[in-house]
Amino acid sequence: MRVLVVEDERKIAGFLERGLTDEGHVVDVASDLAQARTALGAHDYDLLLVDRMLPDGDGLSIVRELRREGSSVPTICLTAKDRVEERVEGLYGGADDYIVKPFAFDELLARIAAVQRRAGGADVLEIADLRVDVPARRVFRGGVEIRLTAQEFALLRYLAERTGRVMSRTRLLSGVWDTMHDPGTNIVDVYISYLRAKIDKDFDRPLLHTVRGVGYVLEDRPR
Ligand code: CA
Repeated sequence: MRVLVVEDERKIAGFLERGLTDEGHVVDVASDLAQARTALGAHDYDLLLVDRMLPDGDGLSIVRELRREGSSVPTICLTAKDRVEERVEGLYGGADDYIVKPFAFDELLARIAAVQRRAGGADVLEIADLRVDVPARRVFRGGVEIRLTAQEFALLRYLAERTGRVMSRTRLLSGVWDTMHDPGTNIVDVYISYLRAKIDKDFDRPLLHTVRGVGYVLEDRPR
């Protein structure tokens, strides 16, 4: 998707740009309201990340303008302010969610996924004949339901939301497992083998592939 980051702090803007680009998105950065308005006039965005304290005003004013024009583009406000009344004001201003700086990138990704779900994004992920019904936490392949444990489901969902992109073990470990693990752990490989046994074993077209020395990818590859 195409994301507009409206943020005047270069470090934060750069961090968001790199992170979201790595996630496969196209990212534009505006460092004030004027640049944001220009960008919004030039492109249709799927998501806005808006800082509140900008050199030429409150980032929320751009959200109010968009809502007045009837735009429902999912918007998350980024702010250093963490007082409750300002958060409420942020939501009333038409933002879908709020994140208080500093934040972990994974928390931002979770909030992005949540606002997209509310905005009617893809709830059911399909890769060839594999169906991952996220809200119902059910998985089907070839129309037949496959029972997964919570951890297997979390791993499959993470890969399915990033179809076609190779995910390193480190990335999977930090994205799927909440608790800290020794980076030398083989837990990712163990769960990949569990998942493979359930989703691929009885099918002649495997979807979960190992990329030697790099990681894993979920994808429907031509033979
Ligand atoms: Ca700022």
